[in-house]
Parts: sequence; structure tokens; C-alpha cells
Amino acid sequence: MISCELKQQLLTLYPYRTELHAHTHPASSCSQITPEMMASTYIELGYDALVLTNHFIHGPKDKHEYVSRYIEDYENTVAAANGSLRVILGAEIRFTENCNDYLIYGIDREILLDIYDLLPYGLENFRKQFSNPSMLLLQAHPMRDGMTAVDPQLLDGIEVFNLHPGHNSRVALTAKLAKRNNKEIVIAGSDFHHPHHDHEGLAAMLTKQCPETSHDVANLLRAGDYLLEVSQQHLILP
Ligand SMILES: [Zn+2]
Ligand SMILES: [Zn+2]
Repeated sequence: MISCELKQQLLTLYPYRTELHAHTHPASSCSQITPEMMASTYIELGYDALVLTNHFIHGPKDKHEYVSRYIEDYENTVAAANGSLRVILGAEIRFTENCNDYLIYGIDREILLDIYDLLPYGLENFRKQFSNPSMLLLQAHPMRDGMTAVDPQLLDGIEVFNLHPGHNSRVALTAKLAKRNNKEIVIAGSDFHHPHHDHEGLAAMLTKQCPETSHDVANLLRAGDYLLEVSQQHLILP
């Protein structure tokens, strides 16, 4: 347990709070949170930034239409936040090979079309074909039921704390997995989807500077200069 004084010092040193995992409807069909609700919820919670990580999956729809609908939720969340919360573009991508989910940061909207084209060919191929020096790819909740083990070399990091209340993410086992594979980039995400479950803002990345862009988020994670906060009270030094 870290002392109250040390905790206060750390919070003073790392004052900016960013949500790294959240979903809006309709871009994520499983979410019940509109862009407006997302913005107002996180503004009320006092967050400085939020990365919108809507599900990004391959489907029968026209890809241009799919990507523009996807971006629409991001733009609507930015508009609803009206400058009171930094809303940043991320994604939770899934390849057609299995049900694993991967959080990506350090992206621009322009590359979503290229990513979409590679979703039917699997993670290994994606890592070979898609070279983007800014992007980070972390496996989301790798120990949840239904996940498939992947070669850790294909991952930049792991979401150790996934705090979705409807799933068992086996946090301790996930932390062990990250350590065993020397994954230094570990994150915590609320995986916020649903109202009235009290799981908004269960996780945050704390930083010395507020990230402005998706690239800033990736760079902060890469630099390792951040803390994690869970349940709005426990600090974790990753
Ligand atoms: Zn979902
Ligand atoms: Zn998610």
C-alpha cells in the first residue's frame, strides 16, 4: 500500500486523466451510450481526455460507408464535448480469424480504410503488412472466455485491467501473462458500454501532460511515463 502522502504526490505529478477504452452507439452496436452521453459522463467525472475505441470489424457493408459511420460517432462525441474533454480516435479491431479484440492507438482516420482491408487476413499478416511507426496494438482482455492465445511478439502491449462488469477478465492472470512476456506497455480500460452499471470511469491513465491526439496517447504509452488508476482510487505503477 502506498502512503497517502506519496499518493498525493503522484497525483500532483500526474494530474491528467484519460479513459483508454470506451464505446458509443451506434458505431458499437453493443453499446447503449450515445456520443452525447459519453461526453457528458466523462466531463462530469472530471476526465481530461477519452479515447473512443469503438469496435472495428469486417462486414458485408460498403467499406467507405462503414468507415464514415464509424467516424461519425467520433465527430459527434467531439462536438458534444465542446472543448471540455479531449476526445481522441482509437479503435478496438477484430480480425475474422477469431474473437480476439485489439486496441489500437496512434492512428488517423485516413488509415482506417487500409486497416479494414486487412481484417480478413489475421493478426500475423496484419503485423507484417501494415507498417505504421506511430501505431500501438495491444490485446484487449486476453484472458476473457473465448479468447485465443496469440504469439506475444505480435503485440505491443496488453490491457491488463479490463473493468467491464459483464465479463471475467482474470486480471491477475493477465498481469502474469504480461510479465512473463516482458510486455511493458500495460493499460487499464473501463470498456464503458452501458448506463446504470456504475462502470464509467473505473479506469484511467494518469499522465503529466494531457494527450491531444491519438499519437500523443501512443507516445505516452511508449515512453512508459504514466500511472494507472482503477476504481477511482487505486494507483498502479505499471
Ligand atoms: Zn462491445
Ligand atoms: Zn471494448
